[in-house]
Amino acid sequence: MTDSETGSLTPHASLSGRVAVVTGSSRGIGRASALRLAGMGADVVINYRSDEQGAQEACAAIQSLGRRAIAVQADVSQEDDVARLFQRVEAELGAPTILVNNAGATRDRLILQMKPEDFDSVINANLRSAYLCTRAAMRGMLKARWGRIVNIASISGLMGQVGQANYSASKAGLIALTKSIAREVGSRNITANAVAPGFIPTELTSNVSEEFRKYYLDLTPLKRFGEIEEVASLVAYLCSPEAGYITGQTIAVDGGISMR
Ligand code: NAP
Repeated sequence: MTDSETGSLTPHASLSGRVAVVTGSSRGIGRASALRLAGMGADVVINYRSDEQGAQEACAAIQSLGRRAIAVQADVSQEDDVARLFQRVEAELGAPTILVNNAGATRDRLILQMKPEDFDSVINANLRSAYLCTRAAMRGMLKARWGRIVNIASISGLMGQVGQANYSASKAGLIALTKSIAREVGSRNITANAVAPGFIPTELTSNVSEEFRKYYLDLTPLKRFGEIEEVASLVAYLCSPEAGYITGQTIAVDGGISMR
């Protein structure tokens, strides 16, 4: 059993009394991050779009750690859904001061086959969502004069990727959004950072070809794929009090493939 499953308490990193929103946390990296934050004492909002069963299971896992948790259905690329999500969070748990913008989707196509709707839907799911949620959470963070924003980007946003012009552009945009937010609200004790995972086996990557998997492993110094817990532990650290002097950074969790 891993730390994120047991939610074991990290010493000196208490998030007790804090409310965290993790978008797209019914499974995968988001779920593992939500469990880590709960293990550090935070009450956690599980958000999902359609995976209700996964969201309820994640909620139950957090509640079994003795923390409060609610599951809220909302498509975070939609303004009205985001407003409803944050209204419910504030009414039921209080204003969140931790936000992990994790919800993400792919629609891989070579550029000639990529339709405008393929482009727009990925930009909206990955980038517009982070803007909308950050704006919705900001008032509470400013009032608390404390906040942690972690955006889950990707090494595709650093390096580009064949067949992922939409996804790579959304993740590069997320990195620039992170830096702008970090500059805007740093004086209020709010940090914003991006985490850029490499290849992590999840539902999102389940359709990736054997050929690409081999290509990725060949180029990766650590010669293996990453694990969701290895991303979640960095997310948890960046949300912790100890990470208070880190802002505007993009940190890769990728086995070394994107190093320059
Ligand atoms: P995953 O297992 O497919 O999980 C994605 C989560 O996002 C699900 O809970 C999904 O719920 C939710 N979601 C998607 N669109 C949403 C929307 N519009 N509103 C609300 N929730 C939404 O994927 P993952 O691999 O854990 O990915 C998590 C993040 O890591 C993504 O941002 C992804 O781009 C990034 N990332 C992943 C990898 C990797 O190799 N896995 C690499 C780099 C970056 P529903 O199914 O209910 O919509």
